[in-house]
Amino acid sequence: MNAILPRLALSPSPAHVCSVKDRIAQVPVLIFDVDGTLAETESVHRCAFNAAFREAGIAWYWDQRTYKRLLQVAGGKERIRAFARSHPPHLILSDNDIACLHRRKTAHYTRLIALHACQLRPGVEPFIRNALARHQTLAIATTTTYDNVDALLRVALAPDWRGRFAAVVAGDDVPLKKPAPDAYLEVLERLRRPAADCLAIEDSANGLKAATAACIPVLITRSEYFRDDDVSQAVLVVDELADLL
Ligand SMILES: [Mg+2]
Repeated sequence: MNAILPRLALSPSPAHVCSVKDRIAQVPVLIFDVDGTLAETESVHRCAFNAAFREAGIAWYWDQRTYKRLLQVAGGKERIRAFARSHPPHLILSDNDIACLHRRKTAHYTRLIALHACQLRPGVEPFIRNALARHQTLAIATTTTYDNVDALLRVALAPDWRGRFAAVVAGDDVPLKKPAPDAYLEVLERLRRPAADCLAIEDSANGLKAATAACIPVLITRSEYFRDDDVSQAVLVVDELADLL
């Protein structure tokens, strides 16, 4: 556990939030998850999957409840594979079929995001701006693809968003997606910083497990799809990053 970030009980007192807020401002490196943390992207992902299935003539429709369950599987291609195996009539899809479907889904996702289908969550932009003003190093550790991150942040944050992050590790950069710690370990490697210098900002139990397995303490900002996750191992849980401004 990072020495300057004590673990707090859920629903901490305002005094505790203030104390952690001050300490968050002193952490040298902030590492952000993307989906659910920076923006409520999951509904857009779900619509993009359904559009890709329709286009391919596959009679699947992922409603909100189904997608919430499928989010336990990290990674879009992995999610398609898991659903094909578990859902009658058990379609046999090759790796190539899945890759094609996923490419189509990504095209729909980037099209929808370009139409301003998703904004940053409350407080995210000033949280990032304040951290940069304090000369904190920012990084991203996500299971989504780099193209998806780029599509979102060039519209929702700034066209030159990449210059604000010292390292961006996406799903295809590492062998194992969250809850494995690979994305976080890769960020530490690229930044050449120890875990004790960092704080991860996540929205889900899988993200919490990934960062914790890399020995990085975690701040949780609860999101629409993962609101019920057990995140009791986080150093602090808030509804929005706006609560910490
Ligand atoms: Mg997330």
